[in-house]
Amino acid sequence: MAKITFFGGAGEIGGNKFLLEDGGAKVYLDFGQSFDFGEDYFFEWLQPRNVNGLECYFEFGMVPEVERLYSEKMLRFTGMEYKKPDADGVFITHHHSDHTGHLTFLDENIPVHMGHGTYRILDTYRKLYPQFTSLGDNKLELFKSGDEIPVKDLVFKPTHVEHSTPGAYGYVIEAPEGNIVFTGDFRMHGPMRKMSEEFIKKAVKSKPKIMLCEGTRMTPDAQTQYTEQQVYEKVKGIIQDSKGLVFTEFSMCNIDRFQSIYKATVEEGRKLVIDTRYAYILENLADKIKLPDPLADENLKIYFRMCKSCKYREKDYYKHERPYLANKITQDEIQKNQKDYVMFTGFTKLMELVYIQPEKADYIYSSSEHFLEGEDNKKKRTVLENWLNHFGIKYHHAHCSGHASKKDLEDTIKKIKPDVLIPIHTQNPEEFKKIHENVMIPKEGDTLNIK
Ligand SMILES: [Zn+2]
Ligand SMILES: [Zn+2]
Repeated sequence: MAKITFFGGAGEIGGNKFLLEDGGAKVYLDFGQSFDFGEDYFFEWLQPRNVNGLECYFEFGMVPEVERLYSEKMLRFTGMEYKKPDADGVFITHHHSDHTGHLTFLDENIPVHMGHGTYRILDTYRKLYPQFTSLGDNKLELFKSGDEIPVKDLVFKPTHVEHSTPGAYGYVIEAPEGNIVFTGDFRMHGPMRKMSEEFIKKAVKSKPKIMLCEGTRMTPDAQTQYTEQQVYEKVKGIIQDSKGLVFTEFSMCNIDRFQSIYKATVEEGRKLVIDTRYAYILENLADKIKLPDPLADENLKIYFRMCKSCKYREKDYYKHERPYLANKITQDEIQKNQKDYVMFTGFTKLMELVYIQPEKADYIYSSSEHFLEGEDNKKKRTVLENWLNHFGIKYHHAHCSGHASKKDLEDTIKKIKPDVLIPIHTQNPEEFKKIHENVMIPKEGDTLNIK
């Protein structure tokens, strides 16, 4: 009998944190942080102190009080006695914080399994933003797609899937009383869709008893299905029509999006201007994925903001930025030849507009507009609009989701045909009942016993 406890990822998009007890093993599937984590009690500078560990989170019931799971350091002020851990491991699907965000709370002795690609991204981010890392001091066990990892009577078989980031995996878990499929986050409409197809093939072959299936886009209405190819075409069209500089904003780890924008830029005879952080990411991921070399690629330029000396001297910049000075571009060069460039930017980098003084420019927002919608983001949206209006910049949106469409989810479930379907990472679990006759809907904190 498989027993699954849902500490997150039930009735919500994100926050995956499932305890699987089966085959004599006790294993966590993902260990993420919910997107609304802390919203009820923390605000701006009102934040818990790191030194207090889990004390504050336990106070407000934000992290489950599970014994033998957290590190001694995290439990120091909580009143919960530290005992040796009893979990056999944590299996991570991909690096996004809603899947890894709480790893730093874990007891160091619990092995954390993740793909080489996942680790590479987390490690690169840790070097760039050490204060936000979700990599703790845990013993890491790295796998590649196709590996088999035994844990007591279970065998974990990770397989790569396509998502809005590289290094994403789904799992087939072989268990004595029935196999389990865990999709993680995946999509089927980008250039790497073959990876998701491979995973689905393996999942079908395993004839699973249970399937934990993500449902980010499982909504009551069918939505328009944009593909990565269409995003590329739209971006290319905007660059073609633009009479000035083109700015573009997208998630740094969305390498498929980088490739789409890079290709459109080069084909339109322009150069892509990235910042030093993006150059660092490209360089660090390059041996895993085929990516242009930020120092050698003639279609890339690396933007250096003016600092202390105002003369772009080495010592003005952080160590990791300095090597890129060899391929630098500055505000003055961009200002002179605005039509020659597409420039990677973001909300916090809008200040550069003052120095560049763009004319007849375009701004392609290539992320989910979700981050600009709603009451909370209203102010941000207004500020962005004010900047764009001030400089007479035209706004465009070109984006496709990192998650499978409703139709693709439906097809996937019908192919895999599990005995029991458990919707996760979705706000619309009831919708799954229209596709499958045996759906078990979990609630946060619930344990499902699956016979
Ligand atoms: Zn997710
Ligand atoms: Zn994700």
